[in-house]
Amino acid sequence: MSQATVDVLFTIFYVFFSFCLMSPPTEFVSAGITIQNVLSNYLGSEEMHFIYYHIKRTTFTVVIHSFFPLGYYIGSGLFSPEKDLFNLGTLPFFWRLYLCLSVGIILVALVVAFYWSLYKWNNHPISRQLGHLQRSGESWRTVASSINIEFRRFDKFTTGPHGQRVIVTDSWVIKTGAYFLHIAHQNDIHLTIANSEEHSLSYENMSSVQYINFSVSSVNPKIQPFSIRLNSMEYRDLKDKLQAPIRNARNVVIQQSLSDKFLDAFKEQIVQNVDFHPPATLDIETCIGCMQKQADVKLVKLCDDPTQGDCVQCFCRPMWCLECLGKWFASRQDQQHPETWMGSKSPCPTCRATFCVLDVCRIART
Ligand SMILES: [Zn+2]
Ligand SMILES: [Zn+2]
Ligand SMILES: [Zn+2]
Repeated sequence: MSQATVDVLFTIFYVFFSFCLMSPPTEFVSAGITIQNVLSNYLGSEEMHFIYYHIKRTTFTVVIHSFFPLGYYIGSGLFSPEKDLFNLGTLPFFWRLYLCLSVGIILVALVVAFYWSLYKWNNHPISRQLGHLQRSGESWRTVASSINIEFRRFDKFTTGPHGQRVIVTDSWVIKTGAYFLHIAHQNDIHLTIANSEEHSLSYENMSSVQYINFSVSSVNPKIQPFSIRLNSMEYRDLKDKLQAPIRNARNVVIQQSLSDKFLDAFKEQIVQNVDFHPPATLDIETCIGCMQKQADVKLVKLCDDPTQGDCVQCFCRPMWCLECLGKWFASRQDQQHPETWMGSKSPCPTCRATFCVLDVCRIART
């Protein structure tokens, strides 16, 4: 192999390897070759100290990435000995300049990292951003600890590839990046659907996956806008976790999973049914399906005469929310023939009395 070929191969390999370290593909992540993994002892627990973890992670990422140009120089010296790169006295101008710049980049990165770490990370860009999110009189550390607490909750929404995760907690929308962490308070943001991309998975069954890009802008002018991206199948989970509505000014059509589509149709039907007015003495409890919402539906046989037809009056007290009952109903249907679902029946999840969609009544609180 000629020396020129070796040079080219080494350059390609090095650039490829550097890119893989900067935004690791899944193969690297599953092999554990990420900065997070290598430094896990120093970074601490993300689960316990989310903000401090990312402050340290971004600082280390800057320092480690700053070594890449010098690494290329050393690699070239080893792979092409005839360039004589380690003999500083006879270096050609190009390599002398390259060496100075690479060392300069490392020095700048080290100075920046040191500056960020002063006063227990007071100068780090993430800390400064949190400073803009505080209510008057609080320190950025108070904001950090409230984010840490919410991150520990199991019901947060997370998605996205390693290095570009989107996390939505009860009050925060967060996106991780190599050198930064975007954070915005849910009360301050406008979430807008920017566009969608469709990628076909296979030509045989025409199935495709849709990704939706959202732009997140804050009414707080000191918070930079950012974008988040997710699979359309996760859209409902994101929507459930957000307090503010999602704007869809461009009318992007969102592909939903079959059960999500059914759930929407199910809800539309139930809204048209007669409401159930509970006696004042009846205590309405939390739904036993999701343990989150209040029970808000009651099965009342309305589709036919009380003694006619297949449906049977259910005497259970309200125990389910509309969403959970809809999921239960869908799970009891013929999965191959979704067009039959709306007209079908299902047993009550508690007493097994048969009901149809016409028998599901929303509880009207008066
Ligand atoms: Zn429920
Ligand atoms: Zn029942
Ligand atoms: Zn019925």
